Amino acid sequence: REKDDTVLEVEGLRKAFGGLVATDDASFAVERGTITALIGPNGAGKSTIFNLVSGFYEPDAGTVRVNGTDVTGMEPHEVADEGLIRTFQTPRKLEGMTVREAMLVGASDQPGESFLKLFTDPSGVEAAERANVEDAHEMLEQFEIGHLATQPATDLSGGQMKLVELARAMLAEPEILLLDEPVAGVNPTLANKLSDHIARLNDEGVTLCLIEHDMEFVMNLADPVIVLDRGSVLVEGSPEAVRSDQRVIDAYLGG
Ligand code: ADP
Ligand code: MG
Repeated sequence: REKDDTVLEVEGLRKAFGGLVATDDASFAVERGTITALIGPNGAGKSTIFNLVSGFYEPDAGTVRVNGTDVTGMEPHEVADEGLIRTFQTPRKLEGMTVREAMLVGASDQPGESFLKLFTDPSGVEAAERANVEDAHEMLEQFEIGHLATQPATDLSGGQMKLVELARAMLAEPEILLLDEPVAGVNPTLANKLSDHIARLNDEGVTLCLIEHDMEFVMNLADPVIVLDRGSVLVEGSPEAVRSDQRVIDAYLGG
């Protein structure tokens, strides 16, 4: 453990897709205990940074450190082992699964995948795996969606699905949780609920870094706010400072 309180440190990160530079010398840090927001116009490179940080993309240049450990180039499950878990902007394919099953399936390479065999081979259930099912139920209860456990995942509203994703990510007991647009396309009532749960997780000691396209949403929840524009950090500061910064206003207006 580092003496300083930085959970995630990104330095000089770069990623190009063909001729398009999606991440261009991006540097920032997420301090322990914060809800740090990454905002910026569509296409600014926010999701790409999450993919780079969590091991889903390999950077062309730069370094990523989690709790002081250099995780650059590591596989997603290895980054997860260091305590960093992320959710995805676009929900995963969950056809034919109940909410409970969805909870126990890891997102791509992050933890949880092995629990799927529990449902394909119920006769092989062992005590440890039963405990995982109990953990999943308990986690759903914490997010006030225990009643959805046996429903088909595809029957959920977008907002309910976001709650399930949040609950699933928490099963991995992250130190830092990265949320990619946790309230995008969600109705205002459920968005408030999600916001409350995110604040609760933070109170419980989880460091959060969240991407939102909508600046208004993060203003009530996050501090500091990091503004990305064309792959680089444009401005970082308190919500108030960022909101009134002319460079940020220009970026959002496409200037
Ligand atoms: P944001 O999340 O801020 O809206 P993204 O990180 O998704 O932005 O995308 C930044 C830029 O990188 C966009 O121009 C996008 O089209 C491009 N991009 C992202 N991922 C890929 C990819 N896998 N292949 C090619 N281009 C990509
Ligand atoms: Mg995105």
